[in-house]
Order: sequence, then structure tokens, then C-alpha cells
Amino acid sequence: MNVLVINCGSSSLKYQLINSDSEAVLAKGLCERIGLDGRLVYQKIGMDKEITESAMPTHKEAIQMVLDALVNPKSGAIESLSEIDAVGHRVVHGAEKFAASFVLTEEVLAQVEECNDLAPLHNPANLIGIRACQELMPNVPMVGVFDTAFHQTMPRKAYLYGLPYEYYEKYQVRRYGFHGTSHSFVSKRCAEFLNMDLNNSKIIVAHLGNGASISAVLNGSCVDTSMGLTPLEGLVMGTRSGDIDPAIMEYIAKKENLDIEGIMNVLNKKSGVEGISGVSSDFRDLEAAYNEGNERAKDACEVFAYRVAKYIGAYAAAMNGVDAIAFTAGIGENTSFIRSMILAYLGYLGIAVDEEANQVRGEERVISTQDSGVKVCVIPTNEELAICRETVALVK
Ligand code: ADP
Repeated sequence: MNVLVINCGSSSLKYQLINSDSEAVLAKGLCERIGLDGRLVYQKIGMDKEITESAMPTHKEAIQMVLDALVNPKSGAIESLSEIDAVGHRVVHGAEKFAASFVLTEEVLAQVEECNDLAPLHNPANLIGIRACQELMPNVPMVGVFDTAFHQTMPRKAYLYGLPYEYYEKYQVRRYGFHGTSHSFVSKRCAEFLNMDLNNSKIIVAHLGNGASISAVLNGSCVDTSMGLTPLEGLVMGTRSGDIDPAIMEYIAKKENLDIEGIMNVLNKKSGVEGISGVSSDFRDLEAAYNEGNERAKDACEVFAYRVAKYIGAYAAAMNGVDAIAFTAGIGENTSFIRSMILAYLGYLGIAVDEEANQVRGEERVISTQDSGVKVCVIPTNEELAICRETVALVK
């Protein structure tokens, strides 16, 4: 079966065409600047990237261009659109309605729409992508895979906030967590890779990318995660603050004369390691600046690593122990000095790092020593493959 995986944002769209039998990627790319001038990046695997600048007023034109590229006689990955058997869509917020992936029927789509308020930047864009695909491929089954679904197993004590209970009842204010597809994929793969029984395991997954979150996975089910009602809570991220004292918002609003939108903009876009360092949100730049002796870049790296280490401690407590820690996503997979900084706090768990193995980038590897009390590994995430697998499971 060939599955087209679509991850649709408000002005961009990432896609991969995957053969689910071999799990090989046949083609991949992205559309950027949808609604503006428009740019399609397309790559048939094994061939060079092609870039086409062309107006894409809406997501429908963008997806049409992707489909045209996929069947292009010269560089297409398939001969005809009938070779696309299903489409898997990433959907950011499924609230409490979706604890698993679903075939996108009209009824399901109406429920997805009801979650729009909780993710106003993401869900409407996801829905536009789904609608555009339905129009262009009316007979192809579509599946929604939710970022929040994996975290729906959290117990009430982990997802209720210390707020008036009526906000939960009236407005669904609670912890949902995000990156669920990645936490699910990586925790399963970690158990497999380490030859552990997933059903009898305590795994902490640190998904450290531009957006970063961490989860506690007990016997294969999520019991806690660091992101909350929105992806702003938890770890210090590229440009997001993560946890702060909520009273800072009022204090800064008065000092800087900002309204709530202004404050949210600061917390989402001007904070995190970029805000601390004044250098960059990208850890490649931060590492270079750190090595040149830039004090604020050093602060940013240290604050980032310390926050991750504190969450690992918290989640070891939540599960009354930990068997394995898996690092994933851009920073988790590639930035060995940050992994070292984090793991340096965890000697009390019996963790010993194999510094040579820890030099690995983007490759599955155990980075703890043979006698380490907790196994630590790098597991590259693959959200597209996870979406492909979920899609196949529902439409086969
Ligand atoms: P997102 O998907 O949330 O945009 P990613 O998982 O792609 O984020 O992670 C982006 C981060 O990963 C950036 O901070 C970047 O510096 C870091 N990163 C990616 N590749 C490398 C690399 N080869 N070496 C060091 N850091 C990297």
C-alpha cells in the first residue's frame, strides 16, 4: 500500500509518500508560503530535490502541485494517483475526544472542528488540508493521527491543573500533551531496541526539538508529559519559555505595556534559549557560541539541560523508577554535548555515560555504559512512518 502522509500548517505543508509494505519513503517534500508566492520542494528518493516557485493561493493548489509532482512522467514516484491508497493526516489537537487515530468521516471531522478553540493556530489548518485532499482524492480513505492521542492515558492527577474545577468542566482546561505520535513511536522502538518487555517497562522519552517535550511511559502507556493545554508548557524550548511563574505575565505586561497577545507573543516567539542567549534558537549556533565563550549562550544551554534533568527526576518519581531514557528529535538525536550536560545530573539514578558512544548523531545507539543503572539511548523519531502505520492499521 502507498500512503501519503500530510502535515499541514497554516502556510506550509510537509508530505511524504511511503510504501507501507517496505516502509520505504518514495518521495517527500514541502510546500511553503501558501497564500503568498508559493514554493514547492519535491524529491523522489534517490534523485535531486526539485524546487518550483509557483503561486498557491490556497492549500488546494498546494496539494494539487504535490499530486502533479508525484505523477510527473520524469521524476514522479508513481504513475497514477490510483497508486495512492490512503492519506494519513497529522492533527494537532484531539482534546478528550480522540485517544486513538480515526478514519476521517464527516462525523469525526465535526468533532475535530470542535477542538479548534484549543489549538486555533493548528487545527483549522489541519482541517483545511484534509478538506483539500478530500476534494482532490474523493475516493481515497483519510485517517487523522492526533498529537494528543497517546497522552490520553494520563491519570487525572497528572492532567488536572490546580485551577477552579469548573474551567475543566466548562472549557476543557487540562493537560493534554503534544508530540504524542513521536513519544509513542520512540517508546515502543526503545523497548524493542533494548530488548525490553514494553508491557513491563518504565521509559522516559525526551523529544528535544525546536518544540521540546518529555514523557513518562509506564508499561507502554503515557502517565505524564510536560506540555499542557498548549505546547507552551514544560521544557525551555527554541523560542518558547516553558514553565514560568504565571505572575510574571502581569508583571511584564505592566512594565512593557503589553496586552495579553503581546505577552503570549513574547512567551511563544521571543523566549526559550533564543530569548536567554540573544544568539539563536538553533543549537548548532548555540554550541558554536558556547565554544567561543559566549556567556549567555552558556546560560541558555545550561538552563535548557537543567530543566530536562529536573523533569527526568520528576518522571522517575512518577513511575517509581526508570529503566530507560530515550533521546529523540533534532537536539536529542544530534547534540551530544547537551545530552552529556543533562546526563551529568543523573548519576544518582546510577546512570553512567559512554562518552564515545554519545558522540553519535541521528542513529540508534545505546549511549550508557554496560553497567549503567538505567539504559540511555538515542532513538531517531519518525512521525511520518508512525502516521503511515496508524493509517494502514485503520484502512486495511
Ligand atoms: P522541530 O521539528 O520542532 O522544528 P527539530 O526536531 O527539527 O525541531 O529540531 C530542531 C533543533 O535540532 C534545532 O535546535 C537544531 O539546532 C537541532 N539540530 C538539528 N540537526 C542538528 C545537528 N546536525 N547538529 C546539532 N543540532 C541539530
